[in-house]
Amino acid sequence: MTTYKAGQEIDSYCTKCKLDLTHKIVAVVSNKPAKVECRTCYGVHNYRAPRSAAAAAAATPSAPRASRSASSGGRSAGARAAPEPPPAPPEHARISLYAISEKFTVGSWISHKTFGIGVVLRELATNKIEVRFDAGTKVLVHNTAPLT
Ligand SMILES: [Zn+2]
Repeated sequence: MTTYKAGQEIDSYCTKCKLDLTHKIVAVVSNKPAKVECRTCYGVHNYRAPRSAAAAAAATPSAPRASRSASSGGRSAGARAAPEPPPAPPEHARISLYAISEKFTVGSWISHKTFGIGVVLRELATNKIEVRFDAGTKVLVHNTAPLT
């Protein structure tokens, strides 16, 4: 335990210099520096704890504020898969006009007079393909000689 004695040097906040400065203790009350004399301006005033110490004490965190705003909301995306976007052919994709006599391969783009542009998802049979259009997935006949 620190004991204070008159004449001892101590760091105190000087009310005149407005700085933490070395002071000389003038009076001690209850083993606490009561009055100090500033070694810079020689003013005598009540002892004040240095600002740095006072600031440290004041900075003791009170209950940390819960940051609720950051966690709630913004959670809607990605929870449920959005419906597949309508097919869009990549740039420079070769789009073939649909005709049942043509043979289409998976991944090729076709233009259908009713459904518009779609992409071949898979070949269901040698003469049937599943094609994804804007309107949905359709099964089309292909690779078949047209009836005459
Ligand atoms: Zn001073």
